[in-house]
Amino acid sequence: MHDINALKELLKEPKEVMITTHHKPDADALGSSLGLAGYLKKKGHRVTVITPSDYPNFLSWMSGNNDVIVYSESNDALVHRIIQESQVIFCLDFSALSRINEMGEYIRQAKGTKVLIDHHLEPENFADLDYSNSSAAATAELVYDLIKDMGEADMIDTSIGECLYAGIMTDTGSFRHPSTSKNVHLIIADLLHIGVNTSNIHRLIYDSSSELRLRFLGYALKDKLVVRHEYNTAYIAISADDLKAYDSKTGDTEGLVNFALSIEGIVFAAVIIDRVQAVKISFRSVGDFSVNEFSRKHFNGGGHRNAAGGMSLESLDATVAKFESLLPQYKDQLVKPVN
Ligand code: 5GP
Ligand code: MN
Repeated sequence: MHDINALKELLKEPKEVMITTHHKPDADALGSSLGLAGYLKKKGHRVTVITPSDYPNFLSWMSGNNDVIVYSESNDALVHRIIQESQVIFCLDFSALSRINEMGEYIRQAKGTKVLIDHHLEPENFADLDYSNSSAAATAELVYDLIKDMGEADMIDTSIGECLYAGIMTDTGSFRHPSTSKNVHLIIADLLHIGVNTSNIHRLIYDSSSELRLRFLGYALKDKLVVRHEYNTAYIAISADDLKAYDSKTGDTEGLVNFALSIEGIVFAAVIIDRVQAVKISFRSVGDFSVNEFSRKHFNGGGHRNAAGGMSLESLDATVAKFESLLPQYKDQLVKPVN
């Protein structure tokens, strides 16, 4: 459903609004949330952004960051009260309530109107209003289009624009993935027109590593990268001790999987990380091989065709062994694109 009039009606009078996004928010999750929050505040709503967990420091420059409530670090009762009292609950950049941990059930039972804005495949049907589109490059693109459809694009100022730019830039892999449509470039043209400093945002996100993070990257590429040419697959497995040795912070492993995918001929890449409570996996592919389906089927996850995540409750070694053992059955699909 994509009825903009229903949203116009819902947001006609000032309301108590809550916005949430997925576990370990990335730039699209946080940027789309804070961009939407900025717009709704300008319209006179009372807006609270709640994330299920913490997120990388390289996102803390976003306008509205200081008011974000991190569920895993705050008072349960406070968050439950906000969820219960919210008249409108926006769910951004995730398609299933299980992606927001314990918060998911509270939101399922909340009485406020639930609005989903997302671009993942196979969304769960939990929202009252759904503005999802799985062919969108980023949730931030959908938020931009939504504000435009509301007839209020002129309310997008540089603070809101910077948040939305960050989401679109990162989810398109800096405008190189096939999802980078004409609409994406037209939005960016609009954002440049209002004065968003795009190169500064790129630096804030990609050129803010600690020395240790860069040395960790070197270690992972030199000692942990495994290449299975037979399956055009490469992966990196990281232990909990590795993370500790390099004092790894939230976000420090983001992007690692892209290095594995950057090897010539590789079409499938994974980064498998022991996060102690569970082993988390990031999958990426180029071409037709669907990591969404692979992750859904074997690792309790999902996402997009070429970028997905999953998890395992087995040990790191057992998870790696399982991953390796699955490759032969996908040999026919793990082929290099024709051009
Ligand atoms: P990343 O590898 O960057 O964590 O995630 C890649 C994509 O897959 C993102 O769009 C993310 O939202 C999605 N994703 C990551 N982990 C999971 C998961 O455990 N379940 C589902 N359904 N999607 C995930
Ligand atoms: Mn996204």
